[in-house]
Amino acid sequence: MTLRIGCIADDFTGGTDVAAAFRCAGLRTALVFGTPDTDTALPGDCDAAVVALKSRSTPAEEAVADSLAAQRWLWDKGAAQIYFKYCSTFDSTPEGNIGPVSDALLDTAGAPLTLHCPASPPNGRTVYQGHLFVHDQLLSDSPLRHHPLNPMTDSALVRLLSAQTRHRVALVDWATVRQGSAAVREALLAHQREGVRHVIADALTDDDLAVLGAALLELPVVAGAAGLAEGLGHAYPTSGPAPAQPLPREGGAAVLAGSCSARTLEQIAHFYAAGLPSLHLDVLAAAAGRDVIGEALAWYDAQDPEQPVLIYASASPEELAAVQAQLGVATAAAQVEELLGTLAAHLTERGVRRLLVAGGETSGAVTTALGVRAVLVGDEADPGVPWTYAETKHGDLALMLKSGNFGAPDLFTRALGRS
Ligand code: ADP
Repeated sequence: MTLRIGCIADDFTGGTDVAAAFRCAGLRTALVFGTPDTDTALPGDCDAAVVALKSRSTPAEEAVADSLAAQRWLWDKGAAQIYFKYCSTFDSTPEGNIGPVSDALLDTAGAPLTLHCPASPPNGRTVYQGHLFVHDQLLSDSPLRHHPLNPMTDSALVRLLSAQTRHRVALVDWATVRQGSAAVREALLAHQREGVRHVIADALTDDDLAVLGAALLELPVVAGAAGLAEGLGHAYPTSGPAPAQPLPREGGAAVLAGSCSARTLEQIAHFYAAGLPSLHLDVLAAAAGRDVIGEALAWYDAQDPEQPVLIYASASPEELAAVQAQLGVATAAAQVEELLGTLAAHLTERGVRRLLVAGGETSGAVTTALGVRAVLVGDEADPGVPWTYAETKHGDLALMLKSGNFGAPDLFTRALGRS
């Protein structure tokens, strides 16, 4: 058993993001979708395992229960340290879930204190004097103040977190972080002696996060965004960089797209412009009972097996609005997810071994339809978009799950070796 870090991510895309960060730090990393059962196995030998939950905006009791179940599973697999991954914008409601979940993880670990740092310098998220910045603006002055679910109107992390826990929250400031890991450890001990349970740390650069990571190896619970996860990952001695995983050469390649985001629509247009075969699914016809799956498979069977293909439900805003007006938003989404999930199963049965899926919800539908509970994380094709490797009943599968807005416009063609 080699597992060292067990990570709990509070949303699916965040799970991929933090898994890619551990992998960048040289750790062999697994990603597990949803709360694992006792019989869920790790997909291979790994140093880090990430359980991706949907606990960011659920009621606090539910988020706590799911996180504790994930912690138990990770401990059972041998994880010595738990990393709680949340958004680099500290995305949370006034009551949680960052405070309640980290308190619960600390309680079960019997740990006196944890350190939080949501900084993600490559994305412009930095923390100074405990205030979270988004590029050159305080969080509370940034567009995040208008977030549709959790508007962030305060940037002071000590104050934000104090509202979510009955325990004391304090700061390790940048001057201390600049003095190095020993100074950070000293500061943590001093806070612990004073009964502080949550320590917010300043960090402006990846170097600061590396200093923090090296100071935190002994803490049973650490919390933050993907940046601190990478800093922590670098502090773990590894036997060299995580081995590159070759993409399967045999078998077919396909893209299934259900995201209607602007970037995914660009990627679809790019694939089409490259002269590669693409098929648009008629969602209304499927809802009316036409055998859209059978038609799509007949189309697929007629294509050149050497070429990657694209099958998409993704629609322009106008088309999406028309479908939603006719079917209702939830029924339309369920119809699309059913179509794409079923197609994924048929395509792998027909020999597809590289499958790129566009859309967060769509990715969930596809992994469920394929019975994929856990994957090994490989190299990133674009920031936050790694190839992953899964076993399915039809054989090994390279799977890329991308959130709608991620990836460059040429991602589909490039990732499938066509640009
Ligand atoms: P993103 O990552 O861009 O948010 P998701 O897959 O999470 O993408 O969400 C896109 C949603 O849009 C899904 O629920 C999908 O079922 C729905 N959808 C996609 N195409 C259509 C369509 N043609 N008509 C109606 N709904 C659609």
